[in-house]
Amino acid sequence: MSLRLHFVVDPMGWFCVSMVLFIWLYNSVFIPQLVLLPHFQEGHIPGAVVFSYFLTSLLCLAALLRASTADPGRLPQNPNIPHSEREQWEMCSKCNLMRPKRSHHCSRCGHCVRRMDHHCPWINNCVGEDNHWLFLQLCFYTQLLSLFTLVLDFCQFYYFQPLARSDGERFVWRHELALLRFSSFTGLLMFGGMSNLFYTQITGILADTTTIEKMSHFVEEIDAPRQPWQQTFAEVFGTRWKILWLLPFRKRQALCSPLSFPSRV
Ligand SMILES: [Zn+2]
Ligand SMILES: [Zn+2]
Repeated sequence: MSLRLHFVVDPMGWFCVSMVLFIWLYNSVFIPQLVLLPHFQEGHIPGAVVFSYFLTSLLCLAALLRASTADPGRLPQNPNIPHSEREQWEMCSKCNLMRPKRSHHCSRCGHCVRRMDHHCPWINNCVGEDNHWLFLQLCFYTQLLSLFTLVLDFCQFYYFQPLARSDGERFVWRHELALLRFSSFTGLLMFGGMSNLFYTQITGILADTTTIEKMSHFVEEIDAPRQPWQQTFAEVFGTRWKILWLLPFRKRQALCSPLSFPSRV
C-alpha cells in the first residue's frame, strides 16, 4: 500500500491547522493532567473513561492528519476517459485539463478535484471524493472529544470531590481555574461549530449534494434522496462495512470507478 501525502502551500491554511492542533493538544495534555488522571488515581472515575478519552483523542488526531494530507481527488494529467462517458467530461477553463462533471477547480490548491465539496482552511485541504470520509470522521471525533472535555470540565466545577493529593505547586494546579475556563470556552466553540457542520454534511450526503452544488442553482433539482442511505454512505466511505466507517487507519476503496459517476446536470 503506497502512502501519498498531499500538502497545500498556503500560509493561512497552515495557521488554521495549527490552531486546530493547538486546541487538540491543549485538551489532550492539560485536561488529563488536571481532571482525568488525578481523579482516576483517587478512584473517582473508572479506567474505561480514561481509555475512552485517549482513544477519542487519538482517533480525532488521526482523522485530522489524514484529512489534511490525503489527496482529495486530484485529476490526472492524461485521464483515460471511457468512451461511454465522454459526453460527461468537460474541459477546465483554468487548468485546461479534462474533468468529469461535478469536479471543481480549487483556486487555493490550484487544481481540479473530483466531486469537490469545498476547500476547508481548517484542514488546509480540499474536501473531495477521496477524503470526504476522513473529513466526516474529523467532524464526528471533534464533536465527541469536545463533548467529553465539556463533561469533564463540568464535573470538575460542580461534581467531583476535592482531590486528597493535589500538588499545589504544579503549573496546572496554580492555574486550574483559567485552564478550565479556556477549555470550556474552546469546548463550546468546537462542539457548536462541529455539530452544525456535521449536520450540514450529513444532510448534504443524504441528498447526494455537495456544498458547492447547494450554493449553486442546481439545488431545486437535487433535494430528494436517490438511493438508500446505507448505499450513499458506503460510497462515501468506500466500504459497506459500517464499523469501518469509524476507522481513519485504512485505505478507501472506491465502490465504483473513481472517474465514473452519474452527472447531475
Ligand atoms: Zn482546473
Ligand atoms: Zn482546495
